Amino acid sequence: MPLLEVIKEKCKGCGLCVKACPFGAIEIVNKLAVVKESCTGCGACLDSCKFHALYLREVEKQPKVDVSEYQGVWVFIEHEGPQIAHVSLELLGKGRELADKLSTYLSAMLLGDEISPLVEQLFRFGPDRVHCIEDPILKHYRTGPYVTAASLLVRKYRPELVLAGATTTGRDFASALATELETGLTADCTELDIDPERGLLVQTRPAFGGNIMATILCPHRRPQMATVRPKVMQMPKPVDTKGGEVIRETFDLNEDQILTKIINFIPSTETVNLADAQIIVSGGRGLGAADNFRLIEDLADVLGAAVGASRAAVDAGWISYPHQVGQTGRTVRPRVYFACGISGAIQHQAGMKTSEVIVAINKDPDAPIFDIATYGIVGDLFEIVPLLTQQFKRRLRK
Ligand SMILES: Cc1cc2nc3c(=O)[nH]c(=O)nc-3n(C[C@H](O)[C@H](O)[C@H](O)COP(=O)(O)OP(=O)(O)OC[C@H]3O[C@@H](n4cnc5c(N)ncnc54)[C@H](O)[C@@H]3O)c2cc1C
Ligand code: SF4
Ligand code: SF4
Repeated sequence: MPLLEVIKEKCKGCGLCVKACPFGAIEIVNKLAVVKESCTGCGACLDSCKFHALYLREVEKQPKVDVSEYQGVWVFIEHEGPQIAHVSLELLGKGRELADKLSTYLSAMLLGDEISPLVEQLFRFGPDRVHCIEDPILKHYRTGPYVTAASLLVRKYRPELVLAGATTTGRDFASALATELETGLTADCTELDIDPERGLLVQTRPAFGGNIMATILCPHRRPQMATVRPKVMQMPKPVDTKGGEVIRETFDLNEDQILTKIINFIPSTETVNLADAQIIVSGGRGLGAADNFRLIEDLADVLGAAVGASRAAVDAGWISYPHQVGQTGRTVRPRVYFACGISGAIQHQAGMKTSEVIVAINKDPDAPIFDIATYGIVGDLFEIVPLLTQQFKRRLRK
């Protein structure tokens, strides 16, 4: 049942609340406001009703936890065999900063089978401790066993923060773990910090289609949980280390108790690797047609770059989705990002604005992409991109 209720006797059917709801969750039926199931209970519509016909039902209050019992910043380590996901290392870098601000320890939460070789690698990226469970059942990621193992560790050691990568695995893991622990989770954060007064995790992420940045706190439940997409946080430099504390636990689960079975692994056929590319050349609606992506590919070829795209170009069917950069595409942080015929909408910027150098080519001098560009070229991409390709070809002697 929706959290918002309409007092029918007071409602005049004026429709002001319909305009006020950012989720489109109210409609007028027979001159009465009707609240749909999609109502989130955000309360944004309450003040819009001049007739006091709207109210929010009281949500059953969760008992508060004693937050003082929780300490430590934990990072969930995603890995496939011996390969640790870059995003987990990036989060160890951010985790170190947060742990220092909280004057607490940083731990890597490592689950899997034959994981001992990973422990040494992890210590090079700054954790004080590695909390691990090693078991053949954890060889490959599966929601059930991973969440059982992680909740066992979290319940025993009570970390105040748990961070995970906003990857396919990390999103699945973090949401299931937060549900199991009955705590809050902020997905796809773009910034994380500590509130100096209350010591809370300040989680920033785009909201309402990326038009505003929301700051989210989780004051009453523990741990505070957040996911962050790859490349949003900076990769820390590995250091020589003497190691740290390894805390091993075991858990008791056998294959018969697990609902999902792994039958086979089929490697992804996706060949676009935007996340690791040092240089990306991206095209947008300014290209005008699918065939014109040839210009982008030519420049990318000469530079050994990957090809990216705006959502407009993807939606037009000019290039496939794995190339999309932005809020609903990939987040990238290359050394050089070329934006060709891309206006630089906030949702596109969300995926590329931390690139080291941004080169923007656009015929509109007022395009927002120029606000964040390191080098801006105002002009027709059909002239400029081939000239750049020609010059790079000559100078790189290709
Ligand atoms: C919830 C949500 C999520 C979204 N997620 C994403 C996302 O992940 N990624 C993303 O990119 N967008 C995303 N968008 C869409 C975003 O708002 C923009 O609509 C989109 O980025 C625009 O793409 P564009 O810059 O290619 O097109 P436009 O905004 O149309 O810009 C085209 C640009 O090309 C220039 N141009 C035209 N002809 C030439 C020429 N001959 N030479 C040089 N310049 C030329 C124009 O001046 C213009 O600036 C999202 C939107 C929403 C609501
Ligand atoms: S603003 Fe108030 S009176 Fe107007 S339709 Fe909504 S609930 Fe009814
Ligand atoms: S409470 Fe929020 S989501 Fe629900 S109808 Fe009002 S504005 Fe919309």
